[in-house]
Amino acid sequence: YPISGDEIRTRFLNFYASRGHKILPSASLVPDDPTVLLTIAGMLQFKPIFLGKEPRSVPCATTSQRCIRTNDVENVGKTTRHHTFFEMLGNFSFGDYFKKEAIVWAWELITKEYKLPPERLWISVFKDDDEAFSIWHDEVGVPKERIKRLGEDDNFWTSGITGPCGPCSEIYYDFHPDRGSESADLGDDSRFIEFYNLVFMQYNKKDDGSLEPLKQKNIDTGMGLERMARILQQVPNNYETDLIFPIIQKAANLAMISYAKADDATKTNLKIIGDHMRAVVYLISDAVLPSNIGRGYVVRRLIRRVVRIGRLLGIKGAGEGNPDGAFLPGLAKTVIELSNHIDPDVTGRMPHILEELKREELRFVQTLERGEKLLDQFLASALLNASTNGDRPCLAGKDVFLLYDTYGFPVEITAEVAEERGVSLDMNGFHIEMENQRRQSQAAHSTVKLSVGNEVELAESIGDNGFLRCKGVEDSKHIAI
Ligand code: ATP
Ligand code: MG
Ligand code: MG
Ligand code: MG
Repeated sequence: YPISGDEIRTRFLNFYASRGHKILPSASLVPDDPTVLLTIAGMLQFKPIFLGKEPRSVPCATTSQRCIRTNDVENVGKTTRHHTFFEMLGNFSFGDYFKKEAIVWAWELITKEYKLPPERLWISVFKDDDEAFSIWHDEVGVPKERIKRLGEDDNFWTSGITGPCGPCSEIYYDFHPDRGSESADLGDDSRFIEFYNLVFMQYNKKDDGSLEPLKQKNIDTGMGLERMARILQQVPNNYETDLIFPIIQKAANLAMISYAKADDATKTNLKIIGDHMRAVVYLISDAVLPSNIGRGYVVRRLIRRVVRIGRLLGIKGAGEGNPDGAFLPGLAKTVIELSNHIDPDVTGRMPHILEELKREELRFVQTLERGEKLLDQFLASALLNASTNGDRPCLAGKDVFLLYDTYGFPVEITAEVAEERGVSLDMNGFHIEMENQRRQSQAAHSTVKLSVGNEVELAESIGDNGFLRCKGVEDSKHIAI
C-alpha cells in the first residue's frame, strides 16, 4: 500500500488543525438524538450547535467519526464502496467560515495533500447554487464540463426527516478519464466514486417539511475514509484496502480458501464478513448488545448473517457440542488489532466483546441445529405422506417458512437438504406466508416511524432481503420494533 489508511486519517485531521480547527474525538455510535437510531454521519454530535440550541465551544472542528448506515446493508459487498460501518472524516464550521473556504480548502487537501490529479476530479453542485458553481469554476479553476448541477436527491443533504440541512457540493474521482466528458454520468459506478461531501448547512427542516433559515451559516462535510483509501491505495474496491482486507484474509484462512482465487459470489460473502465484523465489534464496544429490539436487533441480524455465511463458506464454528469452537471471536480479534486509531477504547473492551460474540454465535447455532432436526422430521413425514397418497414428496410452504422465520434457515439450504432426499418445496405457499408476515410487520412499525425516525424503519426493512429474522424459539418476545 502506497499510503496507509491511518496516514490518510492523520493527514486529514492535521490539515484542518493547521487551519484553525480543533481535533475532537469521534462520538459514540449511539447518538444522543431521538430522531436517528445510530450515528450516520459526523455532524450528528454537533446538531444542537448547528440548531443554535447549544453554544459552540470552538468556531470550527475536525473529526473522524465512526458511522453505521443500515440502509446500505444490501449494498455491502455488491457495490465497491458501501459499508454498514465506516469512518467519516469531517471539517465543521459553527457560524465561522462558509462556502468559499470550505471549497478552497477541500480542493487544496485533495490535490496538494493527497496529490490527486486535478483532471481526475469532478464536482456536483445543487442545481440552483450559482455561488458554489462560480467558486469551483472562477476561484478554483475547475472546467465547466466537470461541474454538474444535480437535484435534491444528490445535492441537498438532510440528516433525517427533520433537522439541520442545506444544499451540498460533492467531489467525485474519475477512474476512466479515457471515456471522455461528453456523456459522463456521475451516477455511473463503473467510472466514478463520490468521496467528499461539502454541506452548506443553513436551514432547519421542520416537522411540516418547511425550511427555516438557521441563525448562522455552517459547514458540515464528510469524506469516507475507506473510499479515499481505495483511491489512494489503487485497489479495486474499499474492501481490499488495509482498513478491511486483513479481516477478509482471516476469514478466508478459517474457511481454508483463497480470496484471490475465489469466485465472485464467494468474494462477496467474504466482503460481507469483513464489513459486518467491524460493525458488530464497534456496536458492542459502544454498549449495543444483541437483542430483539431497536439497535440490538441490528447487531443480532448482522451477527447471524456472519454466522450463516461463515458456515456456508465452510468455516468450522460453534456447535455439535463444541461451544469453544465459535469463530466470531477470532475474527473480532483481527478487527480489534486494527482498531487503535479508530477508537483506542475498543482494545480495553476486548474480553467483553469476544464474550458477547461467542454467546450470540452459540445461541444462533443451537437454533440452527434445532432447525436441522425439525427439517429432518418434516422431510420424513413428507416422504411418508407421498408414499401413502402416491403423490410426489413436497415440503409444505408453512414448514419452509417456519424454518426460515423461526430457525433462521435460508430457503436455499432447506431446498438443498430436501433435494438430497428427493423432496421438493412448495414455494408458492412459502411466498404467501412471507407476504402475510411482511404485511403484519409493516402494520407493526408504522407506529415506530413517528417516534423514532427513519433508521428504525430501515432496520426493519432489511429483514426480507436475506437477513435472518430474530423472532424465535430462544426468544419468547416478538420483534418489538
Ligand atoms: P453514496 O451516494 O455513495 O451512497 P452518500 O451520498 O449516501 O454516498 P453522504 O451522505 O454524502 O453519502 O456521506 C458523505 C460521505 O461519506 C460520502 O461521500 C462517502 O465518502 C461516505 N459514505 C457514505 N455512505 C457510505 C457507506 N455506506 N460506506 C462507506 N462510505 C460511505
Ligand atoms: Mg448513500
Ligand atoms: Mg451520494
Ligand atoms: Mg453524498
